[in-house]
Amino acid sequence: MILIIGAGISGLILAQYLHSQSIPFKIFDRDSALDARTGGWGLTLHWALLHSAPFSPPRSSIGSPRPLFDVPAEERIRVNRGRLRELLTTGLDVKWNKTLREIWSDEKGVTAVFEDGEKYIGELLVACDGARSVARSILYPDAKMNPLPVQLLGASTLYSAEEMGGVQNIDPFIFQGSHPETDVFLFFSFLDTPSNFNESSRDRYHVQIIISWADSKGIAVPKENVDRIALMKSLSENWSEPFRSLVHKLPPDAEARSIRIEDWMFAPGRPNLHPRVTLMGDAAHTMTMFRGEGANNAIVDVLDLVKNVDFRNESCFDSEVLATSLEKYEKEIFKRVEPSFLASRQACLDAHDFGRIEGSPLVQARVLREDS
Ligand SMILES: Cc1cc2nc3c(=O)[nH]c(=O)nc-3n(C[C@H](O)[C@H](O)[C@H](O)COP(=O)(O)OP(=O)(O)OC[C@H]3O[C@@H](n4cnc5c(N)ncnc54)[C@H](O)[C@@H]3O)c2cc1C
Repeated sequence: MILIIGAGISGLILAQYLHSQSIPFKIFDRDSALDARTGGWGLTLHWALLHSAPFSPPRSSIGSPRPLFDVPAEERIRVNRGRLRELLTTGLDVKWNKTLREIWSDEKGVTAVFEDGEKYIGELLVACDGARSVARSILYPDAKMNPLPVQLLGASTLYSAEEMGGVQNIDPFIFQGSHPETDVFLFFSFLDTPSNFNESSRDRYHVQIIISWADSKGIAVPKENVDRIALMKSLSENWSEPFRSLVHKLPPDAEARSIRIEDWMFAPGRPNLHPRVTLMGDAAHTMTMFRGEGANNAIVDVLDLVKNVDFRNESCFDSEVLATSLEKYEKEIFKRVEPSFLASRQACLDAHDFGRIEGSPLVQARVLREDS
């Protein structure tokens, strides 16, 4: 029995694989339902699906709109995270309201203990519990996230074609930009467009607007939502049209979420307290979103796990066999992820320093290393 903690991108893809192979597993999530959380965002999938298609995000300088980089849209796809998860739960029995609290293990098995006191026993626990992984803190009690000196506020709303002011023609999925004087960064993406689904945003564009800035500006994220929206507007006050209006038309009650920008990555070979537990996706490697590679890596992690652990063979759970397979899996993901992880950190820093954008990992191609 395999216990999967977290019904996010990697947990659900792993569950779908095991389901398709009739390999026993259970999947748990802390949320009460798939749509329990508000917000949500889009994901750009590039090399996880296409394996080495070149991709650089289109960019423009917001002060005097001038595209610095542009790429054809065919080279990537943009998915709505909520809808992707909905699709990935098809046919699965996800156990909701199960927040992992403790892990016990011995030579033969591993037990997941949840906040409600329930316990489940398996032979392997795959922790897919995301950026704030509880499993990670159990495995590596001294693991500390590395905070990056950047603040971020993101809001989503619905705009009519007229309110879009033409930005819908810039790129079908996303665009990013930076102000050359203030170094305030904009990330814009579509979560839905009028022609996408019958029941979705109807005649409106569902858009996500994220604004970020360096800590060195000394601007703290306000507590109240209305103040957060006001701050997003004041940070974009000197932007040219149509970018300024894009932010200034945000309704005051649009939910403005703040995301802490920090990263962490496991080191292979480091002894963990529970050898029958392994990390996957953001739990193993939390990277900044400035290169949009977290989910791409999480998806390929699943491939690497099932390549290295032969789940169709019962002996894969023998202690020694499992230890060897997990060691190989961890080495492989480290080799692939480390460059993405470091580039994502650099991209985050460069995004808030206009002079460093040219040639930065922020705008370099997103490619899967051929040797990984
Ligand atoms: C704004 C933003 C934009 C992004 N854009 C991109 C992009 O364009 N391209 C890209 O590749 N990546 C992007 N990412 C990163 C991407 O979202 C993550 O890398 C990806 O979701 C990681 O998948 P995961 O399976 O590891 O974790 P998640 O998808 O985060 O899933 C973790 C799951 O674990 C559950 N959970 C957490 N704790 C517990 C617990 N204690 N017990 C039980 N369940 C628990 C959660 O409820 C959640 O369902 C973006 C991230 C953000 C924040």
